[in-house]
Amino acid sequence: MEIETGVPLARLTTIGTGGPAKAFARPGSVTELEEAIAWAVERGLEVRTVGLGSNLVAADEGVDALVLRLAGDLAGVEVDGDLLRAGGGATNAVCLHRAREAGLGGIEFACAIPGTAGGGARMNAGAYGSDWSAILVRALVVSTEGSSWLTPEELGLEYRHSLVRPDQVVARVEYRLGPRPVAEIKSEVADLVARRKATQPTNKRTFGSVFKNPPGELGAGRMLELCGRKGHKVGCAVVSPRHANCIENAGGATSEDCLELMTEAKRRVAERFGVELEREVVFLGSVAEGE
Ligand SMILES: Cc1cc2nc3c(=O)[nH]c(=O)nc-3n(C[C@H](O)[C@H](O)[C@H](O)COP(=O)(O)OP(=O)(O)OC[C@H]3O[C@@H](n4cnc5c(N)ncnc54)[C@H](O)[C@@H]3O)c2cc1C
Repeated sequence: MEIETGVPLARLTTIGTGGPAKAFARPGSVTELEEAIAWAVERGLEVRTVGLGSNLVAADEGVDALVLRLAGDLAGVEVDGDLLRAGGGATNAVCLHRAREAGLGGIEFACAIPGTAGGGARMNAGAYGSDWSAILVRALVVSTEGSSWLTPEELGLEYRHSLVRPDQVVARVEYRLGPRPVAEIKSEVADLVARRKATQPTNKRTFGSVFKNPPGELGAGRMLELCGRKGHKVGCAVVSPRHANCIENAGGATSEDCLELMTEAKRRVAERFGVELEREVVFLGSVAEGE
């Protein structure tokens, strides 16, 4: 397994911002993953994992860590009865495709989530009334402490939250799905994709939702819209004119530009609604939020 240096995180995040990773590797098996972790430990480097980088803001000055993106066997998918076994680096799109081929439903909600199995488990990602906790049976978590299979309860899955630490790697997952006619799966996916296209920017560089929805009637997006945030711009980062809880990279944005927009958005919502918005997007590296 090759260890690269200076790989720009902008290439590994959907928003397209972020400086270089001190070291970068693509382990393709659990053995390679353990070797990569040992390599980092020997050099006193932290280990961080990126999936598709679809909910990540990486520091502009780069990240002083060994950054991993799971590949090979750790990005593979196989179906066994009603279990779908995926590597932590398997994309949701491939998992959904394999499930549909096998006539298994339950993961349709993930069609709107452009991430990986490991990223989904870490974030307890969800949409349209479902989330990872509804399908996950167990996940293989690997770190300097060794590896163990953890249940959703042990992973502490809650709304867009888990107990997975930044240094832990979700190497594999198992989903329990259920038989469903392929035509029904296709029809639901088409419906969800159309709903998403109608309300959110799907052809722009974003990192999905900036903030979690607070408890109560008003979602974060609606609050931000009522604060007049749509279209606000810092540098080349813009609050999406389509959905106020999304930031778009209009070309050449930096993570710092995004942070400025986030800080101002939080301030406005606190001022107008007395609500402290909680960040959903994850920071990688030393990203200073003006809080
Ligand atoms: C257009 C768009 C729409 C979106 N819609 C939704 C939505 O509807 N619902 C939703 O919940 N999210 C949504 N997101 C956000 C994002 O897609 C999800 O949070 C997704 O699960 C992140 O997965 P990822 O693999 O890209 O993780 P990344 O963004 O790469 O990483 C996110 C976090 O997970 C960690 N991580 C990633 N892989 C692993 C691993 N294998 N082991 C351990 N930790 C890991 C990272 O270190 C980081 O802390 C959207 C994003 C975009 C760009």
